[in-house]
Amino acid sequence: MFTCSRVITSLSRSFSTSSVNNAKVAVCGASGGIGQPLSLLLKQSPLVTQLSLYDIVNTPGVAADLSHMDTRASVKGYNGPDELKNALKGMDVVIIPAGVPRKPGMTRDDLFNTNASIVRDLALAIAEVCPKALVGIISNPVNSTVPIASEVLLKAGVYDPNRIFGISTLDVVRANAFIAEAKNLDPAQVNIPVIGGHSGVTIIPLISQAKPSVEFPADKLKALTERIQEAGTEVVKAKAGTGSATLSMAYAGARFALSLIKALNGEPNVIECTYVRSNVTEAKYFATPVLLGPNGIQKNLGFGKLSAFEAGLLEKAIPELKKNIQKGEDFVNK
Ligand code: NAD
Repeated sequence: MFTCSRVITSLSRSFSTSSVNNAKVAVCGASGGIGQPLSLLLKQSPLVTQLSLYDIVNTPGVAADLSHMDTRASVKGYNGPDELKNALKGMDVVIIPAGVPRKPGMTRDDLFNTNASIVRDLALAIAEVCPKALVGIISNPVNSTVPIASEVLLKAGVYDPNRIFGISTLDVVRANAFIAEAKNLDPAQVNIPVIGGHSGVTIIPLISQAKPSVEFPADKLKALTERIQEAGTEVVKAKAGTGSATLSMAYAGARFALSLIKALNGEPNVIECTYVRSNVTEAKYFATPVLLGPNGIQKNLGFGKLSAFEAGLLEKAIPELKKNIQKGEDFVNK
């Protein structure tokens, strides 16, 4: 008995040694508006030891450029579908910002036709090459691309709902920034949970649960909530046809990827809001604060008590979310 548990302990230790402080991260879509600054931020982090940059164009240049930084991670570029599986081999974390962004007048759902097949094909390769990786999806519409990747992994017999994440961190980052600005607080000290999904009415900032706690008159609360929900469109309009949020998204994506790595490394109390498979509401996928651990989701923390205003937002979000989820699942299954 003693020997057995010692063997198990030493095995789990040697398993964790291979991932502890030794994180291998792939970025799929690494040459894009998000992919490049995201890869820069990951290359800058001492938590990353290997950075695998995959795209269908321009990765040799991006990889050569980043590889000259005097930081720890080794960097390699992989270009085109023939190199995809090599890019994914042995990866602990895969972050996916591949796909087209919005132009003015478009909703995230308008991107479905192009991005659905991109995410499906990347998920097929993940299922084959690195099914145990923690996978973070940035490609829109996140409400549908997470169900798409999940269905692909399920069909391949390697689905673990604790390992697939829709990266909705930018909604939290925006909520923190806007509330801090409105109350003249240090944004680094503000934390607003954002639940639901990642588009329009499905984005539900829980300002009633803000830390530190803040109060607003009803009209101001409504305006702030709508600004958080439509913040992506604010950037799309300002960029006037040249794309959507890239720099703030890279910041948010790096924060989420590094949280996954910290959790892999056994750091306690790593919590992020993220869009995941969920039993919290009647929507099959739903963003809530989640405690992360070495195997992905350790515990879904749910969303606590909502104000009457937030309960109204939730009611509006659920039918839209269910529709987006069904559309993703149908894409893989029909
Ligand atoms: P971009 O066009 O600048 O970059 C996309 C990259 O994906 C390009 O380099 C392209 O070559 C690459 N690509 C295309 N097909 C590919 C494939 N099959 N395999 C690998 N790479 C492929 O776009 P962007 O501004 O970086 O945005 C990327 C995605 O992120 C969009 O879908 C956008 O809507 C989404 N986004 C999500 C959030 C979020 O909060 N989750 C925020 C902003 C943008």
